[in-house]
Amino acid sequence: WAKADGRGRWAVFDPVRSARDRAKSALAAALPAALERDELVIEYQPIVATDDQRLIAVEALVRWQHPQLGRLGPDRFISLAEETGLIVDLGDRVLATACADASRWLAEFPDAQLRVSVNLAARQASEPGLVGKVSTALRRTGLPAELLQLELTESAVMATTGEPLRSLRRLAALGVRLAIDDFGTGYSNLAYLRRLPIHTLKLAGAFVEGIRGDDPVSQVDERIVDALVRLAHALNLSVTAEAVETRHQADRLLALGCDTGQGRFYGPPQEAGGITALLRGSADVATRV
Ligand code: C2E
Ligand code: MG
Ligand code: MG
Ligand code: MG
Repeated sequence: WAKADGRGRWAVFDPVRSARDRAKSALAAALPAALERDELVIEYQPIVATDDQRLIAVEALVRWQHPQLGRLGPDRFISLAEETGLIVDLGDRVLATACADASRWLAEFPDAQLRVSVNLAARQASEPGLVGKVSTALRRTGLPAELLQLELTESAVMATTGEPLRSLRRLAALGVRLAIDDFGTGYSNLAYLRRLPIHTLKLAGAFVEGIRGDDPVSQVDERIVDALVRLAHALNLSVTAEAVETRHQADRLLALGCDTGQGRFYGPPQEAGGITALLRGSADVATRV
């Protein structure tokens, strides 16, 4: 079969792909209303010290509580939101909610000094209103700038030049921390480390996943982590390992000098109440089995 694809070209008809595309456009069409109806839910995942499992920070991870499809992960809708530009509104919501929750945690558990880390899409980073929006969110919630971290991927940083780069610097000057997300899997053009006041490198889960035992792949991944930790520390940056799933990985990451870790081993993403319970319970958040 063949059918016109609307742009005057002919394409081979693929029933599976077209069903998937229809599902995708249906989600894209429903997203603006979902935002209005407040169907977004934020889950927070613990980021803990590798040495004593102290809760240092939480990462805000957005989900869509879809009335028919249930709770959808960001991989189902973030790229759609980026394509349509809705990511800016969506990101504003996440930022405001994350700052409000973090400010409540600070009021109830001042000693914890719990930081909140918010993902920033490339489009948000390049948006002229960014500094104003972040300052407003901090002012409205009373959250100190030092307790907010913004995560950008290497590609988002690379796409950020000129005025937007200056606004990231202004945010850092306010005290907001900047982290590079999924470090080591993007363009890895390290020149941006000189152009931006980065605080933290988040090592991509792919390297952590490779740490399994004594096989040769595992040795390579351990050496990569070792080298990246040394690079980070030489630049006075802290290192967070992502996607830590096993005790073996947690032990190796501690030995390799990673400062903090995040992953199912330490605790899954959970709603704000779960983090409050952790803060109320004890400083040890590990779900050790
Ligand atoms: P990310 O920022 O790298 O977030 C870490 C991802 O690792 C999360 O996936 C988290 O649930 C997952 N994860 C947690 N523990 C483990 C583990 O032990 N093993 C493995 N393999 N993975 C683990 P999630 O929640 O599906 O988010 C996917 C991506 O969506 C995020 O990757 C981030 O890039 C994006 N995202 C999430 N929330 C937002 C948001 O509010 N704004 C923007 N712009 N992007 C977001
Ligand atoms: Mg992230
Ligand atoms: Mg990441
Ligand atoms: Mg990611």
